Amino acid sequence: MTTTASTPDPAPRLRVAPSPTGDPHVGTAYMALFNLAFARKHGGAFVLRVEDTDRARFRADSEAQLFDTLDWLGLTWDEGPDVGGPYAPYRQSERLDTYAPYVEKLIEDGHAYYCWCSADRLKELRAEQEKSKMSVTGYDRLCHGKTREERAKLPGFSETPVVRMLVPDDVPLEFDDLIRGTLKAPRPDDQVIRKADGFPTYHLAVVVDDHEMGITHVVRGEEWISSTPKHLLLYRWLGLPEPKFAHMPLLRNANKSKISKRKNPEARLTWFREEGYLPEALVNFLALLGYPPIIEAGEGGERVEREVFSFAEFSEGFEWTKVNPVGPIFDLTKLDWLNGVYIRDLETHELAARLLPHLVAEGVLPQNPSLGEFGRLKAVTALIQPRLTHLTKAGPQVAPFYVPDDAVPVDDDARAQLKDDAPAVLDAAIEALEGLPTDEGDIFGEGRGWTHAHIEAALRAALVEGMGLKPKVAFGPLRTAISGKRVSPPLFESMEILGRHSTLVRLRTLRASL
Ligand code: GLU
Repeated sequence: MTTTASTPDPAPRLRVAPSPTGDPHVGTAYMALFNLAFARKHGGAFVLRVEDTDRARFRADSEAQLFDTLDWLGLTWDEGPDVGGPYAPYRQSERLDTYAPYVEKLIEDGHAYYCWCSADRLKELRAEQEKSKMSVTGYDRLCHGKTREERAKLPGFSETPVVRMLVPDDVPLEFDDLIRGTLKAPRPDDQVIRKADGFPTYHLAVVVDDHEMGITHVVRGEEWISSTPKHLLLYRWLGLPEPKFAHMPLLRNANKSKISKRKNPEARLTWFREEGYLPEALVNFLALLGYPPIIEAGEGGERVEREVFSFAEFSEGFEWTKVNPVGPIFDLTKLDWLNGVYIRDLETHELAARLLPHLVAEGVLPQNPSLGEFGRLKAVTALIQPRLTHLTKAGPQVAPFYVPDDAVPVDDDARAQLKDDAPAVLDAAIEALEGLPTDEGDIFGEGRGWTHAHIEAALRAALVEGMGLKPKVAFGPLRTAISGKRVSPPLFESMEILGRHSTLVRLRTLRASL
């Protein structure tokens, strides 16, 4: 009997490598999510590396926003600039010494060369190539094989050189992609790998760091497909083992254009939090962009698709081959729907806790609400939970529960709908409610005096049966008195939460103003 000895694959190491050039892009969360799902499934590591070599576009506050929003989404990393790790530092600007020997080696081996061409010369060259519609474009290798002195005698010379890759004619252009199979990219230009400011470009730094940090799977956006042959050349020249590659589809608008921070507010990751989306809904939504719903057996054994799933479920069944490489449409209606599903699924006290920061920011509640105020919020939350779609939409519904009973602000449209019979309706309602037992009970007390069921029964008897009014006509003025609004949380439940005294003061206050 023969056995084949096979070494198990080492635990995978994946990374997300955002550039801190402004507000974090939603695509960064998308990349982080797919990288993390695979890393977690296989018990591997997930690294956050900050690629800040583009000093012209660097923005200092961008990194903190990035940590904060990814953390909010629960897409947390095992190693990174803030938490450290065995391959620190995790910021490329702090790793310049790491890149230097790699560049030297490439130059020594004849795979890279200095280039002193000025920006103006390169611009002219490009313009000429465009004008003459030359088939060969890109850098013309004027500096290749020349010493500094030789090159200095020619026009378009600049003092500090860059370093370029000497891309050979037979550069391999095909590579395997875990999602897309065999891919073929266009022939690359003599890519700059070290800029005049001494910083490496993305292309060199990404290869060196992915190698040094033991990254086994490079998962990134499809815009990097054309760069992969350059990276593979660098791996080969430097004698480094290649990682596996997966290129995720770009997120697109319904008209197929790329989601951009300039045109789409939803391209900014911070927007989702500001708009009152739950992080778990956004994670589920991002997973569905490019990944199929979970398939399971229905009650009769039939095949059922389930679109609502947790990160753990997503990660558990994760396969690269299931990713759909066709540009997923970023459909906010779908996200709104998911958000509602997740809101309804939360425990009421948990939802109240999540609403709190929004309500504080809107001035509905004080910074540190009392136990009583928070208790009331839980009760109000239970009323609005079934129909709430965004955390930010609770304010107007919650606010009336926190205003003085004799000064409920009444919206113009609510006042305008009051008919001539409003005083009589309010008088009858006041009388009916005064007849209810004074026991304000606890708001959840069944069968006690002041419950929504008793309130409703008393008001229906007085207004609908007693005065012969249609329920809508009967309860409109009461709603206005209680909430100041035409649309409010359920009326009788609201009265129960407010209690007998507050309810009566509100009804009497509106009555007195008519
Ligand atoms: N810094 C690159 C970006 O922001 C990372 C690309 C990659 O993951 O290799 O898109």
